Amino acid sequence: NKQVILKNYITGYPKESDFYIKTDATITLKLPQDSNGVLVKNLYLSCDPYMRHLMQEIKGPSVFSSYSASSPITGHGVAKVLDSGHPEFKKSDLVWGITGFEEYSIITTPDSLFKIEHTDVPLSYYTGILGMPGFAAYAGFFEVCAPKKGERVFISAASGAVGQLVGQYAKWMGCYVVGSAGSKEKVDMLKNKFGFDDAFNYKEELDLDVALKRYFPEGIDIDFENVGGKMLDAVILNMRNHGRIALCGLISQYNLDKPQGVNNFMVAIYKRLRIQGFLIFDNYPGYSKYLDVVLSYIRDGKIVYVEDIAEGIESIPKALVGLFEGRNVGKQKLHLEIF
Ligand code: NDP
Repeated sequence: NKQVILKNYITGYPKESDFYIKTDATITLKLPQDSNGVLVKNLYLSCDPYMRHLMQEIKGPSVFSSYSASSPITGHGVAKVLDSGHPEFKKSDLVWGITGFEEYSIITTPDSLFKIEHTDVPLSYYTGILGMPGFAAYAGFFEVCAPKKGERVFISAASGAVGQLVGQYAKWMGCYVVGSAGSKEKVDMLKNKFGFDDAFNYKEELDLDVALKRYFPEGIDIDFENVGGKMLDAVILNMRNHGRIALCGLISQYNLDKPQGVNNFMVAIYKRLRIQGFLIFDNYPGYSKYLDVVLSYIRDGKIVYVEDIAEGIESIPKALVGLFEGRNVGKQKLHLEIF
């Protein structure tokens, strides 16, 4: 059983050498007799930015708990049940949810796993559009941003797992949508594949405030924030009065020893902005409703989803590190085995 192990807690940017692949030869492909967990074979594993928080020593209260060097790192995945002691799951069921980053996992508390009932769409989608990031895009945009037709929407890290969907939802709502991303290839994708009205490469802009004024001369009504730091500061300067900011993520801050914070909060007061953070886990009771809606959009070809799929468990460290260098084009995931 090959496993991805974090060697030590990380400060600064993660490196491939912070991880190693361990082969655990002791695994028996059977559950202990009195277990009410499930034994699964992992098929896809998802690399998500929040995993960076778990790579450091977490002191004090947090929604996360740190990885340990004695067991594989964990994250979202798609898996097949090989053995089950849980009444809700049986052999051969397909599931998605939190699993170990290894070939086989014993999930002792499988209550948080979702059973996969629809297999006419790619299974990998359950780590993306039909999983945690996809649901975050939908709930974050429709519930937190409460968009109205004609509003002006800005999305940072717009080509990623979450952003590409927010942009498409915003277009359906009849909004004007601009996104930022870190390469020409991503900017082209935003405009030509996802239908954004416009997009820019933030790495080529000397002044983000000037860039936003170029695309939003009348200001921004809705900001879907994935990046934070300098980007969020520039956004606040360009918001319209009573605008809404959904704080989905602050990826520019995750690897900093001292996060930059926000300089322009006074402006947020003058503009009476509503700034709301959210964690998608809170919305999970509504997942099946979301699934019905989005499955129908996928089947009708009303939505596109770009994935960046690497092969094999050995590729996980590189893929994880790549998230913070902008190497992924679309949703980053790992394929472990032909199903
Ligand atoms: P992505 O697929 O977008 O991957 C991360 C991307 O972020 C990179 O490809 C890179 O793209 C960009 N990036 C990395 N470092 C920086 C930086 N310093 N400055 C600007 N951009 C950077 O990730 P997701 O779509 O999965 O996640 C997007 C955000 O949403 C993250 O902040 C994540 O933590 C958050 N999130 C929050 C959830 C919630 O429940 N609140 C749920 C899911 C995600 P580029 O080339 O454009 O720089």
